Amino acid sequence: MTPAKPLPDAMETRQALIDACLWMNERHLNQGTSGNISARTEAGILITPSGVPYEELTPDQMVTIPFDGLPDGTGLKPSSEWQFHQGLHQARPDMPVVLHAHPPYCSILAVQRRAIPACHYMIAAFGGNNVPLADYALFGSPELCANMAEIMSDRHGCLMANHGATVLGESVAKARWRLEELETLARTYLFSSIGGTPHILSDAEIAEVLDAFQSYGPRPVGDAAV
Ligand SMILES: [Zn+2]
Repeated sequence: MTPAKPLPDAMETRQALIDACLWMNERHLNQGTSGNISARTEAGILITPSGVPYEELTPDQMVTIPFDGLPDGTGLKPSSEWQFHQGLHQARPDMPVVLHAHPPYCSILAVQRRAIPACHYMIAAFGGNNVPLADYALFGSPELCANMAEIMSDRHGCLMANHGATVLGESVAKARWRLEELETLARTYLFSSIGGTPHILSDAEIAEVLDAFQSYGPRPVGDAAV
């Protein structure tokens, strides 16, 4: 995979991380401070701090952690999920943004331990014919980090057993777009099982969509540099 250009460690990037946090709570894609977001920059990985209400976040509070190894302990404590953010940045150099949340419908499927099959063509926005489910492991643990890095080696999003969901993005805007699409897919899959059986698209049908996405690409409105 081709490594993406790191995002600038600038006010614009830091503010985009805060805006994403505020947005996901406003859109009911997350609640409280359960979610977190990180961006790869030249200086390291910028990540939201642990436990600070999103409304109180300021750009200077974003924490820089290394690409590899432990945080150096300066500044605020990084998100308790910093390990899997770091692991995903290592596993997916093509995706400079990692966004994690506890979206309600994704979490219901994750509690039922169900991956999302190709129930809608938008599944292709996640790089293949499903959105997989990462095995359960304690939040913040190296096991959870390993489970996610493996399952997301060829997918741009996953559900996390008894936990929530994580998506990757070429930019903060793309990560936001994928999180909302993932929650919509989860809701569609869940409700389509009521009073009927969801029809699952074939691998050939999804291959066709993946191809079309490559040529035309979904272009979310307002997709800025970060
Ligand atoms: Zn979480």
